[in-house]
Amino acid sequence: MIALTHTRGQTWAVFGLARSGLAAAQALVASGAEVRAWDDNEASRAAAEAAGFRTTPLDDAALAGCAGLVLAPGVPLTHPVPHQVVVNAHRAGVPVLGDIELLLRELKPVVYGVTGTNGKSTTTALLAHVLSNAGRTIALGGNIGTPVLALPNLAAGAGVYVLEMSSFQIDLTPDWRAKIAILLNITPDHLDRHGTLANYAAIKARIFAGQESGDIAVIGVDDDHCRAIHAELVRENSGRNIVPVSIERLQKDGISALNGKLYDNGREVFALDFPALPGAHNGQNIACVYAAARAAGLDAATIRAGIASFPGLKHRLQRVGVIDGIPCINDSKATNADSTAKALASFEAIYWIAGGKAKDGGIASLRPFFPRVRHASLIGDAAKDFAATLGDAVSHTLCGTLDKALDDALATAKRERLKGAVVLLSPACASYDQFKSFEHRGDEFIRLVAERGGQTEQGAAA
Ligand code: ADP
Repeated sequence: MIALTHTRGQTWAVFGLARSGLAAAQALVASGAEVRAWDDNEASRAAAEAAGFRTTPLDDAALAGCAGLVLAPGVPLTHPVPHQVVVNAHRAGVPVLGDIELLLRELKPVVYGVTGTNGKSTTTALLAHVLSNAGRTIALGGNIGTPVLALPNLAAGAGVYVLEMSSFQIDLTPDWRAKIAILLNITPDHLDRHGTLANYAAIKARIFAGQESGDIAVIGVDDDHCRAIHAELVRENSGRNIVPVSIERLQKDGISALNGKLYDNGREVFALDFPALPGAHNGQNIACVYAAARAAGLDAATIRAGIASFPGLKHRLQRVGVIDGIPCINDSKATNADSTAKALASFEAIYWIAGGKAKDGGIASLRPFFPRVRHASLIGDAAKDFAATLGDAVSHTLCGTLDKALDDALATAKRERLKGAVVLLSPACASYDQFKSFEHRGDEFIRLVAERGGQTEQGAAA
């Protein structure tokens, strides 16, 4: 846990008592601050009380005299409307910030930060893995894994914090400064929380805020918003080192991942043959990690070895087992058609398990990928709609449940015995009709694959 010595003797308000909020409250109390904590959710309040906190509504009286309000990143700061507690804090003149701001104020640590609409978790975890594989001391957190205030103390010189930053967290970190900052991509997402795409892009661009001469800005330049931000960074000419990354065009002064190869300033460095990181979208993640790791002083061979030993993230194109020579892939995190598009683009012959609680638009946008799908095994509420969209283009079965779908997909795959074929769970749907969460759905898939004798490349299915 991080000791927040700068808060000793002060009073702090904490709103939102799930994982990061609770960790913030604990760190503050352990540091000698008084904490006034609240959550609108009764169960979260009960959990906080059980952890020893007295909860109190954060009205004007409770906020009076507070040095700051630590807001959980899930609570609306601006859009669609600020939460009442934010309004109260503004009225009381109490600054609103997040747990990462407390970490930065306390330690002034070296931080590598990653943001973007898609690929944040993969890129952050991969960068952390490559660095620690090379013997660097790092702590991984932010929007992934452990809340930052529960991480070990790595003051400048002792190691580096590798942080995944959601836009909400960037918004709550006024003193943000990353020695190495990565912006992967920007596409419309979370507009409910950020108003306009321009506002959303402006917040993402703040991943480069506060950078000083010699700091490194790694930026994907394959979408219009990121290209505009790149142009602005170049125009600013503030002494930071700017590294453009592309999976569409060869960058003479940057990093590219094209046709299965990685290029550094136009020179080929290694092949992108990493089974745990398939697909062009992972090329973008790998290229950004390579750029950051080079900037951190690692050589290409060390970076390649680190990437090759990365096991991949759970529920994201995760190879969970091979049955009769057919790899089974768990992409349960793909809860919408956009994510599933990335999965379908990553394999040539697919026995596809899809369905669940449908999102607007269904799978019509996936039509260009239908020729890769040998057969679809459909589950959940969306099955009938998906069957209608697939029509005559793709053979399919209404399977109802995940176990039946896995059996159906495996049976068809075994009959056809195509080279390079995979069974792919990439539902393009939320999970709530049949499961508690996408993690629950993915864990169930892992269990079913293991039950059918699935072997991982290292041994029995995890
Ligand atoms: P995030 O943390 O931003 O949600 P993840 O690394 O968890 O991203 O990946 C989530 C999904 O986003 C993946 O399953 C994949 O479908 C898609 N994805 C991953 N990386 C990229 C990328 N660079 N560009 C576009 N889509 C991506």
